[in-house]
Amino acid sequence: MDNRNIFIVRCGEVALKGLNKPYFERMLAERVKKLLRGYGNTDVRREDGLIFVRAERGYTREEIIAVITKVFGVASVSPAEETASELDAIGAAAVDFLRARAERDGIKTFKVEAKRADKRFPVKSPEIASRVGAYVLKVCDNLHVDVHKPDCRLFVDVRKDCTYLYDRKIPGFGGLPLGTNGKGLSLLSGGIDSPVATFMMARRGMRVDAVHFHSFPYTSERAREKAETLAGMLAVYCGRFDMHVINMLPIQEVIAERCPEEEMTILLRRFMMRISERVAVETACGALITGENLGQVASQTAEALSVTDAATGLPVMRPLIAFDKIEIIEKAKEIGTYETSILPYEDCCTVFLPKHPVTKPKLKNILRSEEKLDTEALTVAAADSRETVVIYPSVDM
Ligand code: ATP
Ligand code: MG
Repeated sequence: MDNRNIFIVRCGEVALKGLNKPYFERMLAERVKKLLRGYGNTDVRREDGLIFVRAERGYTREEIIAVITKVFGVASVSPAEETASELDAIGAAAVDFLRARAERDGIKTFKVEAKRADKRFPVKSPEIASRVGAYVLKVCDNLHVDVHKPDCRLFVDVRKDCTYLYDRKIPGFGGLPLGTNGKGLSLLSGGIDSPVATFMMARRGMRVDAVHFHSFPYTSERAREKAETLAGMLAVYCGRFDMHVINMLPIQEVIAERCPEEEMTILLRRFMMRISERVAVETACGALITGENLGQVASQTAEALSVTDAATGLPVMRPLIAFDKIEIIEKAKEIGTYETSILPYEDCCTVFLPKHPVTKPKLKNILRSEEKLDTEALTVAAADSRETVVIYPSVDM
């Protein structure tokens, strides 16, 4: 038998995809393969709706698991042992497996759960479980069966060519494989919300690029670096992507000069949408993504969001719209962006922040204010001034 580390990867929603299933499975397998490229000679194979990965022993199981569980579309992964599909071999492999666990973690009780993917195997699942259990009990004096609360639940998966044994299912993020749902342009600030929003859209299979606005020199170089650091963390999940960095200060100065102070934020947000749309169209992104959340701040009331939306013809995806802040924070911690997001650098929105922003803006008033601005020229100038940086997955995640 193969002397490599074996992993069984289960596909999440991909399994529900009907006729498109092979396409989604292939995309998922390719993504797993791509991310494992730096891990020696690996073999990635699809079979019966599962993905089997064989990796060199030079890498620990945990290293490989950490990679696989970051692939969107993966429901769970199990490091497994492999043996021949034959009762004696399975029994012997179960003994080895449980003995190793007893030595490593001191387990005392176990339960065998068997499944027969190959219905031609002559013994039915419950009987496989009891025969394998009996085999172990005969050889290992220190191990006992506990069907209710075993220290180790040993899964035996009997297939045509071989049988797999495993005792862990490590959950992945689910979702759909990257690249199966177009590309979106994410408005990425240095805050808590927009990295989570970006992650959530990518989890649905959407490739992402990002746009980051700053107001240098009012906002510092470190604020921009923080956004780049967050982008690098996201790239661990989303793959390498482009981030367009744009200075909003020229626009903010014109607004401050010509428009009512309380409209600054909403006018600025409409500019963000227009500029992002222009960049999106030029870079083949079919949607905008923001971390907006209903009611969180003055610019995120239903009225303000609809005035913001009216500035763009592209769909604006707001995956966090109905989340509580606590839930967003939990998600940010889970994906690893939280600690960076809370570093105290200013955002461009906080420059010229009005004391009393309008919370229920009327589109006709806002349009009237915009008549005092050359929105088209300002938008084009801002979009064309963008500096594009390629964001690579950060190595220390
Ligand atoms: P976040 O935590 O994502 O910054 P927030 O709660 O601070 O969000 P706002 O500052 O009102 O909310 O921003 C709402 C959304 O607008 C952000 O989630 C982000 O998508 C976008 N946005 C805000 N500031 C910037 C920026 N400097 N660059 C790019 N996008 C931005
Ligand atoms: Mg913000």
